[in-house]
Amino acid sequence: MAVNHTQRAARAWPILCKCAKQRSTITYGELALRIGIHHRAIRFVAGEIQEYCMVERLPALNVLIVNAQSGIPGHGFVARPDDELETAFDEVFQFDWSNVPNPFDYARDGTTETALVDAILLGTESRRKEIYSRVKVRGVLQRIFRLALMRAYDGQCAFCGLSFEEALEAAHIVPWTEATHLQRLDPANGLLLCANHHRLFDCGWMTLGISGTIHYSDPHAQDGPYTASDQTSSVALHGEKAWLPSKPEHRPSVESLRHHHSAHAWEGPML
Ligand SMILES: [Zn+2]
Repeated sequence: MAVNHTQRAARAWPILCKCAKQRSTITYGELALRIGIHHRAIRFVAGEIQEYCMVERLPALNVLIVNAQSGIPGHGFVARPDDELETAFDEVFQFDWSNVPNPFDYARDGTTETALVDAILLGTESRRKEIYSRVKVRGVLQRIFRLALMRAYDGQCAFCGLSFEEALEAAHIVPWTEATHLQRLDPANGLLLCANHHRLFDCGWMTLGISGTIHYSDPHAQDGPYTASDQTSSVALHGEKAWLPSKPEHRPSVESLRHHHSAHAWEGPML
């Protein structure tokens, strides 16, 4: 069976939160002993925790995992440059971790991120509801949702086809704050978009027609000036077909698209 680093991170998280409260660090060896793994594997666990903290803009909790000799974290610590380590420690010590639920709790029984992504893409509504109530932490839910869309859209922006993984985001068509629990994990309420198109979609400058056509709010470029790059990303895409998932149940639902149209005052027969 493949090693599940998330499951290990679920065990490491409360130990590190306790260290933070006590304003202490823990060595790779000690932490390895506490969670029952080889000390070399700790860097993967630290990596999971670091990624989560960075994405959620939390202090980098993994800074507390240090080498026994040097008293500082290993090379894998990249949340802060080396000359800001003191600040990194202070931020972690001063933060109240008791209010942050363990983001990896769902993995305690061995459930993997991949299994959750499978369930989102293949599962029934009741399965999605179950995942929602189980994972709880917004950052983790969004990460899983993004992975599901990455797979459904074959790793390309629905509007422009950009495939740089780091620049791709999961857009909610009915926004997270307005969506039901079910919609928050429903691929049919999502679009995989590059960061630029995500912003343009969220502010309503661009939308998607029911038949899968891209619409831009200034199709004749009258509100310029436009740079060549602006044109490529907006005007030139107006009327083009979006890149959508091959499975109909993963494509944006009519209900969600209608919501986006009315929220941003889009109207007309072409939608
Ligand atoms: Zn794009």
